[in-house]
Amino acid sequence: MNVRVRFAPSPTGHLHVGSMRVALFNWLFARHHGGTFLLRVEDTDQARSTQEYTDSILKALEWVGMTSDEPVVLQTNNIARHHALIDQLLREGKAYKCYCSPEDIERRLLAGQFGKKYDKYCRTCAEQSPDKPYVVRFKIPETSFRITFHDLVLGDITIDSDQLDDFIIARSDGMPIYNFVVVADDIAMNVTHVIRGQDHISNTPKQLLLYQALGHAVPAFAHLPMILGKSGKLLSKRDAATAVFDYKDMGVLPEALLNYLARLSWAHGNQEIFTVQELIADFSLEHVGKSSAIFDVEKLWWINGEHIKRSTPQYLHEVIVRDIDPTLDTTLSSCSKEQILQTVALYQPRAHTLVMLRDELYTLLRQPVYDSMVLQTITPDVMECLKEIVKRLSALEWSAQVLEAAIKQATKDYHLSLGPVAHALRIAITGKPAGAGVFAMLVILGQQESIRRIGQLF
Ligand code: GLU
Repeated sequence: MNVRVRFAPSPTGHLHVGSMRVALFNWLFARHHGGTFLLRVEDTDQARSTQEYTDSILKALEWVGMTSDEPVVLQTNNIARHHALIDQLLREGKAYKCYCSPEDIERRLLAGQFGKKYDKYCRTCAEQSPDKPYVVRFKIPETSFRITFHDLVLGDITIDSDQLDDFIIARSDGMPIYNFVVVADDIAMNVTHVIRGQDHISNTPKQLLLYQALGHAVPAFAHLPMILGKSGKLLSKRDAATAVFDYKDMGVLPEALLNYLARLSWAHGNQEIFTVQELIADFSLEHVGKSSAIFDVEKLWWINGEHIKRSTPQYLHEVIVRDIDPTLDTTLSSCSKEQILQTVALYQPRAHTLVMLRDELYTLLRQPVYDSMVLQTITPDVMECLKEIVKRLSALEWSAQVLEAAIKQATKDYHLSLGPVAHALRIAITGKPAGAGVFAMLVILGQQESIRRIGQLF
């Protein structure tokens, strides 16, 4: 079967990480099966949809490399077809115009004339009121029956048609409603698998009836577990940043975010770290869990750190400039590209984010700022030893081994231990008492600059 899936965001906000996980599972499923991944922007809620959000969602998907295999569909461009299909259902007697105002319904509801469902008043009365506004309701067949479907994640699901009321498919302003347009568009786009969040599961029986009414075979469905915050409620800003771009700004690699989101409700043995190619190769809906997943930002930092460790310095430098700091190279214009890459290589084993890595680049490669309190931690005897070290370094061949031997020798000659001398050198080089190995930093800075920085202390 030629798999065709779609991700159908509503542009009423920036892309949420939970929605990104839905997009990811669609994309992985399509890629794994050599199928087609489609994007449909569900912008029919004109009051809440904006172009800014549409652009932002498309950019976020582009950032992680999940772009539509066919031109992006804007749902508002399909409105004429939606209207034609509503008319078709009305003509065929599968839907009817309902002139009851919300007040009429409320009044009859309060009078206890019917349960919580619409009483089908207009379904049976044939009168037409051309001047009155109306909604269009879908006719649920009279005799009750069971609606069953096999969910690829949750298994068999059955509901009784009695649980449904004659639901509205077009509002009184003529705009067709979500459950209808989603079916109309999925049919038009030849979608074979609808993969979406469990929050839509109550819509599925209604949509199945609409497929039938429109005379179309139903696609397969897979409803994905919801993502919760640590509080146990749906992930919200109270728990963690929720917009995809917040994670980009915090220095997360796109492939690390995908890896983290994939692992939120899918497993492949005990493996935690996946390249995108591995995710594609290993992904299957059978291994998606049924229960909600908890968003744990600490695990995301860990996964990001692992991806940073495994990346080349060239790539990390590229992404830092692209995503975090476009002016990095200008700010560090006094350094060579090699120095920048060597510094990335020095810090990448312990950076959890690209922002941390960028900060370390600045710490080593920009002129240090000395804090008098920090400088006071260097004792006079250590300061004397530093003067001697400067003298000896001037005559050295510049390699980590030779430097280490010379500095250790000077330390010995001054009857000091290496700890306080390394501490003082680190302050001289970066202005900070903590950081990477002193010898590695000196090698990257080069002879002249290292000697100049140490010399600044006296
Ligand atoms: N626009 C809907 C949403 O954002 C998509 C629903 C669906 O995938 O059917 O939740």
